[in-house]
Amino acid sequence: MNVAEDKPLILTLGRWFRRNLGYPLRKLSVDAGFTCPNRDGTLSSGGCTFCDNRSFAVGTRLAGLSITEQVSRQREQILQRHPGTRFLVYFQANTNTYAPVEVLRARYDQALTVAGDIDGLAVGTRPDCLDDAAVELLQSYAGAGRHVWVELGLQSIHDHLHADLNRAYGVQAFDDAVHRLAAGHPLHVCAHLIFGLPGESWRHMMETVEHVAALPVAGVKFHHLHVVRGTPLEARYRRERFPLPAIDAYSGWVADAIQRLRLDMAVQRVCGEAPAEMLVEPSWSCASRRMLGIIERRLVQRGTRQGTDWLPHGPVHPHGQRPASL
Ligand code: SF4
Repeated sequence: MNVAEDKPLILTLGRWFRRNLGYPLRKLSVDAGFTCPNRDGTLSSGGCTFCDNRSFAVGTRLAGLSITEQVSRQREQILQRHPGTRFLVYFQANTNTYAPVEVLRARYDQALTVAGDIDGLAVGTRPDCLDDAAVELLQSYAGAGRHVWVELGLQSIHDHLHADLNRAYGVQAFDDAVHRLAAGHPLHVCAHLIFGLPGESWRHMMETVEHVAALPVAGVKFHHLHVVRGTPLEARYRRERFPLPAIDAYSGWVADAIQRLRLDMAVQRVCGEAPAEMLVEPSWSCASRRMLGIIERRLVQRGTRQGTDWLPHGPVHPHGQRPASL
């Protein structure tokens, strides 16, 4: 490992793989046919107000094909350009632990057995949809030598910001899921965060990051709040015109946040992306790779890097409480 990789400005997922595995892995995104309790009427039928899976889950474009076919098509395309690549299958769309454990096992096994170069799974889910059987199943793959990430939506630790976004779980559910996943065979937990929620201050965002960095969380995905066409958030945005993050402010927030992460945490994504035809606002749209360059330049200008402002003893504020001064 050279010096730049040993002390990168930002430990991207690619660097994390090289550091921890010695080689990179690529994700193959599948839509495995799950739904979400926040959509099927169990918790609500509207979903989180910002969510349209088609805007972020690449695998939805292959929905309807079997898991095997979805994996095979993407894998073959990548191998033509990059022979020798190894893979994780990314269960991305909807809530991918929302089914009886036998169903989960069958779908995960289907993905893992497509080819010998599939090394593991990345499973996106809600923290309130991880019963003990699902956690044990995921840990059993890790125990068998598979590489397993579990991606949990959090967005913010400040539950009051979610009251009208219809997330329908609280930070306590997130913390509980992280601790249960961390017990037993080690899994890698990735927290999904959104910056720029209506009413969210810089302090709220930094408290969320400090909270996550104090937990056994191995990675973070940062997204900016954007309004996707057809979502309940679009209707609210047209009524209220609440402020959305400008690119300069947002890149500064993420740089501030990355400074608060532990040095071992993987930064998997630094902004949201949506197809142009689905995006209402903000009008800037940025590939995560380009945003990464913007943030790295900011860190260089500041003379800082990931971990500069990490709090080794954890945050001083109690999680989930609104800070006294904003
Ligand atoms: S963001 Fe996740 S939990 Fe919320 S509606 Fe979409 S799939 Fe369900």
